[in-house]
Amino acid sequence: MKIILIGYPCSGKGTQAKFISKKYNIPKISIGDLLRSIILNKKNKKYLDIKKKINQGELISDNIIISIIKKRLSKKDCLKGYVLDGFPRTINQAKIMDQNKFKIDYVLELLISKKKILKRMIGRQIHIQSGRIYHKIYNPPLNKNRDDITGEKLVTRKDDTKKIIIKRLNEYNLFKKEIIKYYKKKNKLKQLKFFKINAKKKLFIIQEQIQKILSQ
Ligand code: AMP
Repeated sequence: MKIILIGYPCSGKGTQAKFISKKYNIPKISIGDLLRSIILNKKNKKYLDIKKKINQGELISDNIIISIIKKRLSKKDCLKGYVLDGFPRTINQAKIMDQNKFKIDYVLELLISKKKILKRMIGRQIHIQSGRIYHKIYNPPLNKNRDDITGEKLVTRKDDTKKIIIKRLNEYNLFKKEIIKYYKKKNKLKQLKFFKINAKKKLFIIQEQIQKILSQ
């Protein structure tokens, strides 16, 4: 089961990817999480440049992303499948994925308004080492500012400010149409299955819908 989740930053891709990963016992692969753990505590120029770009809400070059994803997908745990969160973000990434014969069975597009996203993103906290996500109001940790599992400190992402969030949403819109068109065409050709999901609905309703889709 090889799945791609597409949607605005904070549309719930991380949460749904975690659900799918647990339910179907396949790894959840978030490029954002991989990047953040790669640059954590690194001081050389290459990594500082990546960090700067992430903090400013800019996309990392396709070359770097492709090399990270190829390495990750060739690991043994991906043989049974995977759920990708935050990849592809450009049409080039989608095409290179196909050229490298990394098959995709399902593409799920999570639909939600920009207004709702802004509400969700302000107050978000993350445990960088694991990628676990919390929210000060909607999903607070058991102990303030601490990860539930390790007790380590939670941080607010530098790119979770209103200004940068708007930049990231615009960046997503820039590539979205092309990517969706690409996958819809593949859906028509029966090379994969493409579905839209209303991500404004309650969590259990979204998850029920996902389960129904993945059993088809
Ligand atoms: P995310 O955690 O998915 O919100 O991603 C955080 C940041 O990581 C993005 O704003 C980009 O700077 C970078 N990033 C994540 N995935 C990709 C990708 N597929 N292509 C380029 N940059 C990416």
